Amino acid sequence: MNTRQCLSCGTQESMQHFERRSLTVNYKDVSRWVHGIAGWECRACGEIIFDNDTDSAERYSDAGDKLLEECFHVMGAEMKRIRRKLHLTQKEAVKLLSGGGHNAFSRYERGELSPPQPLFNLMRLLDRHPHLLAEIHAMNEGSELRRLLAARFPEQETAPVP
Ligand SMILES: [Zn+2]
Repeated sequence: MNTRQCLSCGTQESMQHFERRSLTVNYKDVSRWVHGIAGWECRACGEIIFDNDTDSAERYSDAGDKLLEECFHVMGAEMKRIRRKLHLTQKEAVKLLSGGGHNAFSRYERGELSPPQPLFNLMRLLDRHPHLLAEIHAMNEGSELRRLLAARFPEQETAPVP
């Protein structure tokens, strides 16, 4: 008997066995094939479960982990290359660009963490237009915030920055 009930949608006899199917693992805009997968697919809802008698689940999960690891690695290498091109230490990069934990940059660069999308975009923007770093320095000086605040709340008396 080659059909069984789907445990996802409950339809009787809706799951059919397949072998040697090629599925993809995906991360962001990257996909990779995993070939020779065996499992069951529901004709009613499309649910797929891997065949426990094969190594399909393990190979699929390993391929997903490997893709993630390799993506983190290349993004980390890119972060490091651009940071060095901008002549920033990791500490300066955190202060100017990312905020947050002081060792965040080192974890991104080692490929332990995925850099947040806005930060990764900012780094790639600075790679293409490194002169914009001067604008970021100016924004971080605080004079811009003081100017905005004084314009909005002119009655407040300002004190020297400690
Ligand atoms: Zn189903």
